[in-house]
Amino acid sequence: MALKYRRILLKFSGEVLMGEADFGWDMKVLTQVALQVKSIRDLGIEVAIVVGGGNVFRGGQVQSKQIQRSTADQMGMMATIMNGIALRDVFESQGLSASVMSAQAVSGVTEGFSANTAQKRLAAGEVVIFAGGTGNPFFTTDTAAALRGIEVQADVVLKATKVDGIYDADPFKNPQATRYSRLSYTQVIQQNLQVMDLAAFALCRDHAMPIRVFDMLKNGAIERILQGEDEGTLVTKGEE
Ligand code: UDP
Repeated sequence: MALKYRRILLKFSGEVLMGEADFGWDMKVLTQVALQVKSIRDLGIEVAIVVGGGNVFRGGQVQSKQIQRSTADQMGMMATIMNGIALRDVFESQGLSASVMSAQAVSGVTEGFSANTAQKRLAAGEVVIFAGGTGNPFFTTDTAAALRGIEVQADVVLKATKVDGIYDADPFKNPQATRYSRLSYTQVIQQNLQVMDLAAFALCRDHAMPIRVFDMLKNGAIERILQGEDEGTLVTKGEE
């Protein structure tokens, strides 16, 4: 089977992990994610992961002025570390070799991020989970995904969402909405389409990192993407 990518950066939000609940972890979903990742690894593709923390805590949730936003964001980043170590264990229980690197040091829990070590591990077939976001408040895990994807020289950032791509209108509200198969960075900006937050998007654009938006829980979606088929929406410079 001809494969389009050698190394991918897979980003999914914490919300994916809570399934139908409104907080925490649905073990069925974690197992499903692990099996998806295993099927990608079985194809020989190297997998780096950035996970969000929205199933536990987002900095923006804090309304009280007594807790500063930067503190709240540190709480959010810690939520991503909780997800990272949980995923590592579930991955390992499915026979994958996995490790967590965090942008925020939590002694005894995770090691720090090293692009060099991460690349060596990826090349050796290990799944490397990047937790702790960028390590800085006022950013999101989308920006972490763009940053880490560029740092470890991934071929593409695969951003999993609840919708199977980027549409010209909200497909939940408008049944006529049509999915874009491909877009250029310029089209995304001109048409004001929501792909990632601006910081994340600007990083990808400036470093020509392709972004593929897709629905990870849709049957066969990842496999189709890896074989270069029309699935989700691919955002590139426009010449690829
Ligand atoms: N966060 C942060 N800096 C980062 C990444 C994340 O401060 O570089 C914090 C922020 O408070 C955010 C929370 O961590 O709300 C969880 O991340 P995110 O909202 O991106 O998670 P997702 O929505 O993808 O689950």
